[in-house]
Amino acid sequence: CGVFGVFQHPSAAKLCYYGLHALQHRGQEGAGILVANDHKLSIHKGEGLVTEVFNSEKINQMNGIHAIGHVRYSTAGGGGIMNVQPLLFRTMAGDMGICHNGNIVNANVLKEKLEEQGSIFSSSSDTEILGHLIKRAKGHMIDRICMALEQLDGAFAFLILLEDRLYAVRDRYGLRPLAIGQLPNGAYVFASETCALDIVGAKFLRDVEPGEIVRVKGNQLLSRLYTKQPIHDKICAMEYVYFSRPDSILDGINVHTTRKNAGKQLYLESPVDADIVIGVPDSSISAAIGYSEASHIPYEMGLTKNKYVGRTFIQPTQELRDQGVRMKLSAVSSIVNQKRVIMIDDSIVRGTTSRRIIKLLKEAGAIEVHVRIASPAIKYPCFYGVDTSTLDELISHKMTTQELCEYIGADSLAFISEEGLKKSIHFKKEHTCDLCMACFNKQYVTPLYDNDFQDD
Ligand code: 5GP
Ligand code: SF4
Ligand code: MG
Repeated sequence: CGVFGVFQHPSAAKLCYYGLHALQHRGQEGAGILVANDHKLSIHKGEGLVTEVFNSEKINQMNGIHAIGHVRYSTAGGGGIMNVQPLLFRTMAGDMGICHNGNIVNANVLKEKLEEQGSIFSSSSDTEILGHLIKRAKGHMIDRICMALEQLDGAFAFLILLEDRLYAVRDRYGLRPLAIGQLPNGAYVFASETCALDIVGAKFLRDVEPGEIVRVKGNQLLSRLYTKQPIHDKICAMEYVYFSRPDSILDGINVHTTRKNAGKQLYLESPVDADIVIGVPDSSISAAIGYSEASHIPYEMGLTKNKYVGRTFIQPTQELRDQGVRMKLSAVSSIVNQKRVIMIDDSIVRGTTSRRIIKLLKEAGAIEVHVRIASPAIKYPCFYGVDTSTLDELISHKMTTQELCEYIGADSLAFISEEGLKKSIHFKKEHTCDLCMACFNKQYVTPLYDNDFQDD
């Protein structure tokens, strides 16, 4: 998912719309904007893309000086309008809006407890839990929010909007990104990725730090830690590999550069002789350029993409995903015909994309297709809000690299090493922070609670 927020700007809803549009790659299933004006919050949301849910008429009607918004990619809780965010809570003490990127791992445990105490939930999304926990806590608002957050475990970047203040929080592992920016009029802006700050003309100030809660009220920005528990610096490696936009800067590191580094590293680890290097558009182009530069094998546009098809992976069913790949990519015969091709992709999850593309390339005349993947093999499920796959959908869990190579019909297959990926991301000496790599190595940064799985 992606979140965007703006505090104290006459065109808050419009800026939020542009921000969400720049974050569209983070989720295409639903979008929503909530604005605050005159002691009340109002909301519009729906299923589909930002441009499908909103038009200029709708945006112009959304008067307000503060706004938060969300693009949804369903992980926990599944699809449906009831799970589209922001969530709006109306209470006697005032309205509260919440949007969330991430996934709460102890959601079921908390939900059960809350239901026993009398809460009733109106969605299956784990985000609603935070609203209930805040309502039950006592004291000043900031203390109540911190007390509520302290009970959550997992991945989260939250934006919480009240009529006169906005809170932004990042989980204590720093799993999901969240950046702070400022507009020329002084208004503060929050976004999952810096590409959304750029689009509204906001200057990047800094990231929200792991474990930090930031409050904006009036024109003041206050910060504190929400937790007494240990703080880590384990941003999701897949944010760099796949999820984020190449122009974004996460924790001080540009995404495109890390992908290009990974391509170079892949060549050093798994060189192969061939005529051309191609990338699977769009997320693998940077890595393909890196591989080409390091190998001195020319980069070519062997695949073209129909821009009007969304991300295939984020389709909820396998049937839609297969259909999606077919509509989305075509091999360019005049480029790949009679060529030995190195095909770079960012990841293999279920194997749908690679298998299909290799078939396309061979039909278009490629004589060899060598596949190089710019992430290690994904063998374990993610419980932190990035992808929905279960253990037995993960093809690298079931197959060795050799078996997978045969399954996808490649002439050779290699993944980047974990160390190699780490080096590609933390290429600057001053970066000492760590990464979550649990989907490659099973080292989950949190307990898994009732999400635990049998790995046999
Ligand atoms: P597969 O087709 O093997 O199931 O998925 C891998 C392909 O899906 C890659 O081309 C990758 O760019 C794309 N993809 C789309 N969304 C995601 C995601 O959320 N996670 C990962 N790892 N890959 C994704
Ligand atoms: Fe990211 Fe993988 Fe960790 Fe999930 S398990 S947060 S996808 S690195
Ligand atoms: Mg891809």
